[in-house]
Amino acid sequence: MTKPYTVCIGPHRFAVLGSMDVTRRLLREGKYGETDIDSLSISIRDDLPPSLWDETLIHEIMHAAIAVSGLNSHLEDEERIVATIAPYISQALSGPHKP
Ligand SMILES: [Zn+2]
Repeated sequence: MTKPYTVCIGPHRFAVLGSMDVTRRLLREGKYGETDIDSLSISIRDDLPPSLWDETLIHEIMHAAIAVSGLNSHLEDEERIVATIAPYISQALSGPHKP
């Protein structure tokens, strides 16, 4: 996947951030990525292998979609649901698959 600069989630355009400062901060916090709904941004460590970066983007898009849709107030186990489903979506989108 080509790294996007922005992703549209519902009516909002989220910036996808991955500067060295962002990467250092996420490393310190023990995170691969994070979503900030208030600033409409998704931050992802820039040192991740491509497949892990892709999966992390999908993971964070799922968090953003859940928040934008308002489902987050109804989900008790959002992190487990997102962490379980994101790898399947990442694999489905991982490239052309011949019939
Ligand atoms: Zn998460």
